[in-house]
Amino acid sequence: MTTAEPDPRRRVPRTDVVLADPALAGATARLGRPRVKRAVVAAQQDARAGRIAPEEVAAVAGASLPAAATGIRAVLNASGVLLHTNLGRAPLSAAAVDALGVAAGTCDVELDLATGRRGPRGTDALAALRDAVPGAGAAWVANNGAAALALVCAALAGTGREVVVSRGQLVEIGDGFRIPELIESTGARLRPVGTTNRTHLRDYAGAIGPDTAFLLVVHPSNFVVTGFVSAVGVRELAGLGPPVVVDIGSGLLTPHPLLPDEPDAAGTLADGADLVTASGDKLLGGPQAGLLLGGGGRGAALVERVRRFPLARAMRVDKLTLAALEASVAGPPTPVREFLDADPSALRARADTLAAALVADGIDATATDTVAGVGGGGAPGVELPSAAVALPERYAAALRAGDPPVLGRVGDGRCLLDLRALPPSADATLAGAVRAVPVRPET
Ligand SMILES: *Cc1c(COP(=O)(O)O)cnc(C)c1O
Repeated sequence: MTTAEPDPRRRVPRTDVVLADPALAGATARLGRPRVKRAVVAAQQDARAGRIAPEEVAAVAGASLPAAATGIRAVLNASGVLLHTNLGRAPLSAAAVDALGVAAGTCDVELDLATGRRGPRGTDALAALRDAVPGAGAAWVANNGAAALALVCAALAGTGREVVVSRGQLVEIGDGFRIPELIESTGARLRPVGTTNRTHLRDYAGAIGPDTAFLLVVHPSNFVVTGFVSAVGVRELAGLGPPVVVDIGSGLLTPHPLLPDEPDAAGTLADGADLVTASGDKLLGGPQAGLLLGGGGRGAALVERVRRFPLARAMRVDKLTLAALEASVAGPPTPVREFLDADPSALRARADTLAAALVADGIDATATDTVAGVGGGGAPGVELPSAAVALPERYAAALRAGDPPVLGRVGDGRCLLDLRALPPSADATLAGAVRAVPVRPET
């Protein structure tokens, strides 16, 4: 008889023993016991199958666990699309992230600390919005741009009254959602006027009657129509009588020199709009939210009507959104703003530095000039000069699978890592992610 090596499967430590390993204590505190236990069970299976040594179970389980208790993973946006809808649109500023931390606990979002009684909700965020938008006499915040628009329709026209809107503005906003269907789902009646390419003031004037609730202007934010086109400006519509509601989409609060065709909230109110709706997480650079801004005159009363409408309670934002929105509006420039304002020659210098460092490590990298875009259904056709590190195409998939994942784009058979939507502080992480891609010898 020979004494066989003890079966390694017998040496696989028991689950409770591994879970008590100090190496996993931090993970248990961070992620909770069930999540860590699943990782331990998976590592035990690896050990029984002989893929790892029994002694490695705790370490392998620990290494497989994420840094935070969410399945959502941070991704480096090297796509050159500033507002990437699939990446959660606007990244928040450090100031907004700090504000989230403050609001995350119990906080005075709806308490007057002086009296100890209930106070108005989110006053600071609403004041920040009014301060940031000249001409805004009143503000309110809903869950997103679509909610703000739906609420306006429900509150002002939901009893079957008419919303007059140009046929050229009956747009689909993404993921199959369409403005006309959204409006009609609130009980409002749609009164389309004009044609796809041309709508005149007389079209609106002819449609106005006793059933008119308001005139709606929807900024066609994700496409451009060129050629034989004409639309009526807010200024002219404001003279017709009924309230004018403008969905500007992107949430640009004041004009930006690089985006001359993008309507801004202040300018739209100055043109005579009574209500402006917009998203919080597009060009404003804040959290997902839907802004509702009322101009002078009737605007403030309309905001109040919308805010008191029963459905408003179902669409109101939480304390986290209010805190992050306030910090984005009143705090230091948002990342989106910094990406917009980035100097192309500074981007090129970053790309040159990165490419040189990667070449020194034997990686086939070059710096190249590129064109980035705003994205997120905003500023269609706007080309933002940018720069990228170009790598062999195979890097695109490998970088997405990396840690942290990097989303580049493929162009001309190369994987382009565009720097326009990345802060300079991300460059070292980006280089590390590229270096971590296994080198495959060229054949
Ligand atoms: C993006 C957009 C919306 C939808 O806003 P969300 O915040 O995504 O709900 C509505 N209208 C216009 C014009 C838009 O650009």
